[in-house]
Amino acid sequence: MKVTAAVALAKGEPLVIQELILDAPRATEVQVRMVATGVCHTDAIVRDQLYPTPLPAVLGHEGAGIVEAIGEGVTSVEVGDHVLLSFSSCGVCSSCVSGHPSYCIHLYDLDFSGARPDGSTAFTTDDGTPISSHFFGQSSFASISNVAERSVVKISKDAPLELMGPLGCGIQTGAGAVLNVLRPEAGSSIAIFGSGAVGMSGLLAAVVVNATTIIAVDIVDSRLEFAKTLGATHTINSKNEDAVARIREITGGGVNYALDTTGNKFVFAQMTKSLGVLGHGALVGAAAPGTESPIDIGSLLLTGLKISMVIEGDSVPQTFIPQLISLYEAGVFPFDKLVKKYDFADINEAFADSESGVTLKPVVIF
Ligand code: NAD
Ligand code: ZN
Repeated sequence: MKVTAAVALAKGEPLVIQELILDAPRATEVQVRMVATGVCHTDAIVRDQLYPTPLPAVLGHEGAGIVEAIGEGVTSVEVGDHVLLSFSSCGVCSSCVSGHPSYCIHLYDLDFSGARPDGSTAFTTDDGTPISSHFFGQSSFASISNVAERSVVKISKDAPLELMGPLGCGIQTGAGAVLNVLRPEAGSSIAIFGSGAVGMSGLLAAVVVNATTIIAVDIVDSRLEFAKTLGATHTINSKNEDAVARIREITGGGVNYALDTTGNKFVFAQMTKSLGVLGHGALVGAAAPGTESPIDIGSLLLTGLKISMVIEGDSVPQTFIPQLISLYEAGVFPFDKLVKKYDFADINEAFADSESGVTLKPVVIF
């Protein structure tokens, strides 16, 4: 069938909207008609080839839509179900069976290789040229896509599909790093480096669990002002102030928990220095493979602190995302405040606004 997709044709170039041919859903695939999809920083870094998913490719990994057809063996959803799309995993490796699918040993192949395990792609051009598909198991920058069943999360028909997509990656990543990995106790302190969509989701999660000192660190004042409205008790512009000294001052010796959403090697080092004794920090920001951070292992040894590297909030999407929706519906997780909607035709504007900081979480509507 013919579909309309935004295609990443070449490294660093804007996406091009064009018609492609979509094949039939294979076994364990779900064909989804997209209603909306979020745009995540990770789409931009793959468009720019920090990760080498073969181009041309249909990217997009925060899709939300309606099941149009199911392939052989699909049991978790039926035609007409409302679904939200997250990362894919194999379901059978030791990480998957122990409840940590974001560390699936096949994650790279299933989410970034741009093809099915047999090497075929769901999309081709008119003349039969393959276009990479199955990005995060879904390639949601297309009006209809064939999605790995493991990426699919069935949600209630009451939940607004136009809003839900970002729960599949960016929101899940920030919120999950806090709720599933750091797990700050009520009354504890947390510093969040980077006030983008991922950092703000971590911040909202810290508010949910009643952390009482919530410090947002960024280099853009408008983002810090916004962080205050979401519940940050302190903000630091690390361009003008020494973030480590200020965090140690605010917390009287170091923060209990910290989250680095920047992927900047110097910020990561700052995070380790801002933690107090027995603190726990997590990195979610992506950096190019080979990036090394200058951290002082001599001094850190004495602190007993812990650092976690966290993919997709270490969550099981099919259980964690419904929990986030429930928190949203209860009014305590207002992630909709991060979202701005764009027409699908304006997808490159959505990318640009995310990069310039104008928009925290763009969602394009089909
Ligand atoms: P974003 O660009 O919206 O936010 C990043 C924020 O960091 C911005 O507000 C920026 O001003 C701030 N920043 C940049 N340099 C800084 C510095 N030196 N000090 C302090 N703040 C600084 O991006 P996002 O959508 O929030 O995503 C954040 C990161 O998370 C990206 O690298 C993305 O690729 C990654 N990510 C990781 C996962 C995962 O599974 N680990 C999932 C989704 C996204
Ligand atoms: Zn993402």
